[in-house]
Amino acid sequence: MLTYQQALIETASRLKESGSTTPELDALLLLCHVTGKDRIGVYATPKEPLTSEEYSKFDNLVGRREKAEPMAYILGEKGFWEFDLKVRKGVLIPRPDTESLVEAILDIHKDRNAELNILELGVGTGAIILSLLHEMPNAKGLGVDVSPDALACAEENAEANNLDDRLTLRASSWFDNVSEDGFDVIVSNPPYIRTDDIPNLMRDVAHHEPSLALDGGNDGLDAYRHIIDEAPAKLKAGGLLAFEIGYDQADDLKKLLKDSGNFTPAVIVKDLAEHDRVVLAHRL
Ligand code: GLN
Repeated sequence: MLTYQQALIETASRLKESGSTTPELDALLLLCHVTGKDRIGVYATPKEPLTSEEYSKFDNLVGRREKAEPMAYILGEKGFWEFDLKVRKGVLIPRPDTESLVEAILDIHKDRNAELNILELGVGTGAIILSLLHEMPNAKGLGVDVSPDALACAEENAEANNLDDRLTLRASSWFDNVSEDGFDVIVSNPPYIRTDDIPNLMRDVAHHEPSLALDGGNDGLDAYRHIIDEAPAKLKAGGLLAFEIGYDQADDLKKLLKDSGNFTPAVIVKDLAEHDRVVLAHRL
């Protein structure tokens, strides 16, 4: 029988071969997952053999990772803000960059007790709106998505983190089924990759994540145009529109918001890697 130590060494080399950029870490996390031990537990017992049941599970998961399936789908969760969020195939995996969007909104709404009404368009796992609701205990949210997988996933995450009493989830393509108005904040991390760029993304993303959540059309800006057109009717005067953007889209977004004539000049915020990542504007 293979020991933990042997399993880690063999798997890391298998995964390195298949193109993973983090083969040792992947191997360790997969081994923790099938043995139910934490990292220290695995390292502390290197000679422990995997049971045959553990081995066959492990081998299957390693096989999936070899095909560049993202670790978050294999493990079924991803850390974001203060949560371990459930993720599943068909739903975009939350990115650390997106925490910059949450932070930027919280920087504007410094009163944590404000009774804000927040709308998120394209809620995915719920990462953004759940983080905002968690930080602002009197805020209420409506999260919409066209994907039933996303809505089910967001629902599970809302329940697991006791935020389901303040979050309504609904099937809707952007504003189509949103009859409410007067929101204080509208936030979205819409699909923003140019269609032609999708095949060039990392294999993990291009082959495994939903193109619905990535493909922003020919110039990557389709969703922004649509939302900027319709958001003014749904926001309070002075209400905040907040987007995540691609690192090279700040000028495009500034122009779209300016041309709409309904917003204050856009403010751009960078992520931790110093890339332009967030656009903020208030409704006039
Ligand atoms: N940031 C995502 C990526 O790297 C894109 C997410 C989106 O299109 N909203 O691939």
